[in-house]
Amino acid sequence: MFGDPIKHSQSPFIHTQFAKQTQQILNYEARLVPAEQFENSVNDFFSQGGKGINCTVPLKEMAWKFTDHNTERANQSKAVNTLIKQDNGEIIGDNTDGVGLLNDLKDNHQIDIKQRRVLILGAGGATRGILAPLLARSPDCLTIANRTVSKAEGLASEFGGQKGLQGCGFEDLHGLQFDLIINATSASLSGDLPPLPNGILSEQGDCYDLAYAKKATAFVKWGRQQNAQKSVDGLGMLVEQAAEAFFLWRGVKPETKAVIALLEEQRLG
Ligand code: NDP
Repeated sequence: MFGDPIKHSQSPFIHTQFAKQTQQILNYEARLVPAEQFENSVNDFFSQGGKGINCTVPLKEMAWKFTDHNTERANQSKAVNTLIKQDNGEIIGDNTDGVGLLNDLKDNHQIDIKQRRVLILGAGGATRGILAPLLARSPDCLTIANRTVSKAEGLASEFGGQKGLQGCGFEDLHGLQFDLIINATSASLSGDLPPLPNGILSEQGDCYDLAYAKKATAFVKWGRQQNAQKSVDGLGMLVEQAAEAFFLWRGVKPETKAVIALLEEQRLG
């Protein structure tokens, strides 16, 4: 895993668990790689026999530009979180964040998307990664609200042609209601909450924070205060996106529930 910062990454633990479970021999490390060292670090890693890399903040867009080929879902998001070195030497880029979110919503939390009014908060790299997969699950409508309004509007028009897709600012949300609110801002990382009007979550509504922390994030707490049916964080998405990356490298799909349970135990302990 390459990123900056990287100190608190759970990915080495997750992939080590996957390797044990599937009896694969794997050495997975977290490496501090500042943006300016990205290309050299990737080249060194692969020339020394490395087979695959995960990239996190702030390297995902750089990784997308660096590869020989990208998958369709990586091109839709213009961001790559998984690099795969092929036998012919080519480096393929993929993005497993979207499928990681979908799997976590569906399999671990039983949260539906189809025909629901969905709101995404934030218009950064994570929103880019989850937008197309969410749209493919046929929500009734999908609104992107962002502090910098032009970024939300830009994303909506980039993924344009989709019925019910729009971008706006937080103040435009007054009077609207949603069945699923997904926080894809990085506000939780500093304990902040995007400015959300009361009454915006429908009676049977759910809240999902892409961020995760030892304790409930500000957004998860907000969801509970709004009587959300479920208000959960992105720990499961972290494990699910890792499982997809592991599958791309090893051709075997690890079981995620046991690993999520271990991480839940660690954060309680
Ligand atoms: P980016 O830096 O690309 O985007 C950050 C977004 O958050 C921008 O839209 C920014 O708005 C907004 N923002 C930041 N601070 C605030 C605030 N105080 N109030 C309102 N909006 C704010 O980050 P990413 O998109 O890469 O990541 C977003 C989150 O998703 C992070 O918490 C990250 O940890 C999490 N994530 C989790 C994953 C998982 O597996 N669970 C996978 C990927 C991401 P503006 O445009 O106005 O600056």
